[in-house]
Amino acid sequence: MAGSKCTRLNGALIKQVLDSVDSVLFDCDGVIWRGDSAVPGAAEVINLLKKHGKNVYFVTNNSSKTRKLYAQKMGRMGFNVKEEDVFGTAYCTAMYLKTVANFKGKVYLIGSNALKQELEDVGIQQTGVGPDHISGAQSDWANVSLDAEVKAVVVGFDEHFSYMKVNRAMQYLNDPSCLFVATNTDTRLPLEGGKAVPGTGCLVTAVEMAAQRQAQKVGKPNGFMVDCVASQCGLDRSRCMMVGDRLDTDIMLGTNCGLKTVLTLTGVNTLADAQAHQGSGCPERQKMVPDYYVESIADLLPFLQG
Ligand SMILES: [Mg+2]
Repeated sequence: MAGSKCTRLNGALIKQVLDSVDSVLFDCDGVIWRGDSAVPGAAEVINLLKKHGKNVYFVTNNSSKTRKLYAQKMGRMGFNVKEEDVFGTAYCTAMYLKTVANFKGKVYLIGSNALKQELEDVGIQQTGVGPDHISGAQSDWANVSLDAEVKAVVVGFDEHFSYMKVNRAMQYLNDPSCLFVATNTDTRLPLEGGKAVPGTGCLVTAVEMAAQRQAQKVGKPNGFMVDCVASQCGLDRSRCMMVGDRLDTDIMLGTNCGLKTVLTLTGVNTLADAQAHQGSGCPERQKMVPDYYVESIADLLPFLQG
């Protein structure tokens, strides 16, 4: 139905919608895979979309892998994907510092080896990866040793996150000219079987509270992720579709960037979540209502195979 949102994408509508786009952006976790298992049919969908002439890109807030590692994981799962098609926040944060912030200097990094690698690949030096345990007396903590070359604090997913890292970040950020950048603010990392672990947003919030400053966020729903794809691959936003499982990141990003949006129900959010936003009467929440929804991206298969 014209003008309506949150419409089930099936039957003849699939052809109509796919004919109206040249490029499809997919989120990863909860969309094409869950943990280490591919969503059934996802690889076929991706490979057939390409066969039908569509450009397919992957846009993920997860900062724990480089583009290369993502492409390798996808390859193992049977997806026909090139490293250049993957836009994770580790890579996009490096691009943000290099292109938007025109950053010169060293980064104090609360993050993973993947983030370290992506920063180094664009020529940005960093310090901080790995454990940083508490030492000395409490009265010494504010005088913790700092690297004079550090001009930015970057926070991403860090399994070694600690009190001392928050403290060190805070001491750097006491200098108002020190940049403060976060990969993303996802609250939880969903796992299989309905389980979850704390997401990067928990770490970012801890550092923001200590520093009494807000980080610049690179990940979805910030449009920078789409800018990144557009600048490298030449995206026509009026003929582009965003497919994701989260309303507050994926669907919000699509709306913010003027893309068609599709919610898939294999991940975090439910149809009831989307309908609650739709019925709320709140303009801000309308941005989280998708144009369409599917039970799984495998719903596109009958059309693509036809
Ligand atoms: Mg997801």
